[in-house]
Amino acid sequence: MTSTPHPFVARLPVGERIPLPENAMNGWDVFPFEGEFQVRVLEPPVLPEPPRHGEDGPDTCRRCQNPERNVIWGDEHWVVTHVGDPSGLPLLVMLHPRGHHDLLDLPAARSAELGPLMQRIERAILSLGGIARVHVNRWGDGGAHLHIWFIARPEGMLQLRGACLAIWDDVLPKAPVEEWQANLAHVAQALAADGGTAYA
Ligand SMILES: [Zn+2]
Repeated sequence: MTSTPHPFVARLPVGERIPLPENAMNGWDVFPFEGEFQVRVLEPPVLPEPPRHGEDGPDTCRRCQNPERNVIWGDEHWVVTHVGDPSGLPLLVMLHPRGHHDLLDLPAARSAELGPLMQRIERAILSLGGIARVHVNRWGDGGAHLHIWFIARPEGMLQLRGACLAIWDDVLPKAPVEEWQANLAHVAQALAADGGTAYA
């Protein structure tokens, strides 16, 4: 942990409003919003950073404290969860190890399982039909317990391509609960066909 800004941070124009660059994201055809935009004023760095959820271990980790929360599928070492409410996109799920690990300290045996498991989840989501692409994201700025996002882009919706997909999820009308639950159950069953147990 450091309390001195890295040179990269030290040379940022903190407290100033950066002019909107030419060809900025708000001009992209996949950007969900239109109108006049300005860049937020850069806030000073916070160092050392506050701990993320679960950084001190399982006792402060939301996933470890509620290991069955929102689980739609699981096996001995892994669970797939939903986000709690219907989404604007056909499906958003997260993959987590059952053990309290982040990517860096994931045991070698779990790391070896991760690639095939990610392929299984993508296959299961594609089997819903009408899905052109499954975006896989690991942000992890909120929680220290590894969670990898799988976000389905509906086929034909070219405007939803790329890095703005998660933002589109926020603005699209939410799916009816029955449709959302049916999609979760479909993916859970598809995963369970290759092992583990479906809980949705
Ligand atoms: Zn945890």
